[in-house]
Amino acid sequence: MSMSSGVEKVVIIGSGPAGLTAAIYTARAGLNPVVIAGSTAGGQLMTTTEVENFPGFPEGILGPELMQNMMQQAEKFGARLVYEDAVRVDLTQHPFVVETSMGTTLQCLALIVATGASPRRLGLESEAKFFGRGVSTCATCDGWFFRGKVVGVVGGGDSAMEESLYLTHHASKVYVIHRRDRLRASKILQQRAFSNPKIEFVWNSVVTEILGDEKVTGVRLKNVKTGEESVLPLDGLFLAIGHEPNTQIFKGQLMLDEQGYIVVDKFQRTSVPGVFAAGDCHDHTFRQAVTAAGFGCAAAIMAERWLGELEAKGYEAIKAEFVFRP
Ligand code: NAP
Repeated sequence: MSMSSGVEKVVIIGSGPAGLTAAIYTARAGLNPVVIAGSTAGGQLMTTTEVENFPGFPEGILGPELMQNMMQQAEKFGARLVYEDAVRVDLTQHPFVVETSMGTTLQCLALIVATGASPRRLGLESEAKFFGRGVSTCATCDGWFFRGKVVGVVGGGDSAMEESLYLTHHASKVYVIHRRDRLRASKILQQRAFSNPKIEFVWNSVVTEILGDEKVTGVRLKNVKTGEESVLPLDGLFLAIGHEPNTQIFKGQLMLDEQGYIVVDKFQRTSVPGVFAAGDCHDHTFRQAVTAAGFGCAAAIMAERWLGELEAKGYEAIKAEFVFRP
C-alpha cells in the first residue's frame, strides 16, 4: 500500500472538542492530520460562556478559551487546521475525497467525522436579529444574564423542561411556550416543571415574532387551535426545540439513523471502513464537551490502528471482510 504525497493519512472534519481531541491524538501518533475546522471553528462551545464541568479547570474556563487551547494543543503537535467548510465527500472511492467551500480537494486514507450538531431554530427573521441579544439556545450559558427577569422557553421535550427548571434559579418567571397541549418530556421532568411555582405553561402556541428594539421586550404568539394572536412581554427567549446533526453531506454514504445521526459501533466505526465518527454528530444522549472529547480520542486511536491494518492488507481486502455491527 503506497501512500502517495497527495494523499493525507487522516482528515478530520470538525473542530469542536471531538474533532480537536482526535487531532491531538492523531498528531501525536505522527499521522499529520488535516482538520477541516470550518469557517466558524470551535463548535458549540464558542457560543457558551463559563464551562464549569470540563475536568481540569476547577475555576471554570470560558468556552471560546477552552477551544482556543485545544486548537493550540493540536497545532503544537503538527495538526494542520484549514478554516473552510467541508461541502462534499466521496466515500465510495478510496482514498476518500473531501471538498471544501473554498474549492480545496483533499484525499485521505482515514476520515474522522466530528461535525457536531446545531440547535434547531424557529427560522424567524426577528430571531436572527436578536440571537445572542436576548434569544439563546443555551440556558446554562446565558441564564445568568436574566436574574430577576421574565423569560420564555420554547419546546415541550426534556431539554425544554431542564432549561426551564435551570432558568428558575435566575429568572423571576419562566413561561414554557409549547405548540401542543401535551409535553413530550419524561414524566419526572414534567412533574418537576409542573410543581415549580415560577413556571407557567402557554399551551398550543407558537412564537410568530420576537419583539423589541435594542432588547427583547416580548413575543407575538399564535394559538394554533383558535388562531388567536397575543403578545407576551418577556426579557429573553430560550429555544429548546431539539438539535440537528450536521450530517447532510454524508446522506446516502454513511448509515444515518432516522433523525440523521451517524450510526457507529462501539469503536466509533461507521458503515464505511476507514470512516470514524465522534461527538454530537452521532451522540444524542450525552452531548457534553467531555464525552465528545472522549469519543474523539477513541476515534483517533481506532483510525491509527485501522491505518496499520490498511497498510498490511489493502483496502479491497478490508472492505471484503467488513461487517458493520452497530
Ligand atoms: P425533543 O425531544 O426532540 O423535543 C423538542 C421539542 O421542541 C418538542 O416538544 C417539539 O414539539 C418542539 N419543537 C420542535 N420543533 C419545533 C418548532 N419548529 N417550533 C416549536 N416547537 C418545536 O428534543 P430535546 O428536548 O432536545 O431532547 C432530545 C433528546 O435528548 C431526547 O431524546 C431527550 O429525551 C434527550 N434529553 C434527555 C434529558 C434528560 O433525560 N435529562 C435532557 C435533555 C435531553 P412536539 O412535542 O410537538 O414535537
